[in-house]
Amino acid sequence: MDAARCRQELDSLLARLPALLAPVFETTPMMAGWIYQRRFRCGQPTCHCASGSLHEYPSLATWGGPKKDVRRIRPEEDIERLRALTERYRAVRSARTSFLAWSRRVVKLIDALESARTRVPGPPKKSTARKAGGTK
Ligand SMILES: [Zn+2]
Repeated sequence: MDAARCRQELDSLLARLPALLAPVFETTPMMAGWIYQRRFRCGQPTCHCASGSLHEYPSLATWGGPKKDVRRIRPEEDIERLRALTERYRAVRSARTSFLAWSRRVVKLIDALESARTRVPGPPKKSTARKAGGTK
């Protein structure tokens, strides 16, 4: 890639940085976790789940505290609030991952620009100017 295209891509990457890091600058609370639908068989031989549809309920898995936790989301809890909290966390993690890729690309472009500008010293030029000396 020539230097002009490198500078163009670098310029474009720099312009995208604020949007890329926007989730990181948010101040709203977030939660390291995941909401999912837990499905299981209870193990009772006469239960409908033994031969038919499984039991299922929304669960919250978290890992932001002192230990990992998985629990059932109670009906009185606001599942949409929990979903927003966990989605914000994933947005920050995703921004972090994107930033790493972004920074690697920027470093490659910097290296390419450096190579394009660097001049390798050739052999020393023969001096055409005669040394003035000895005729004083
Ligand atoms: Zn069952």
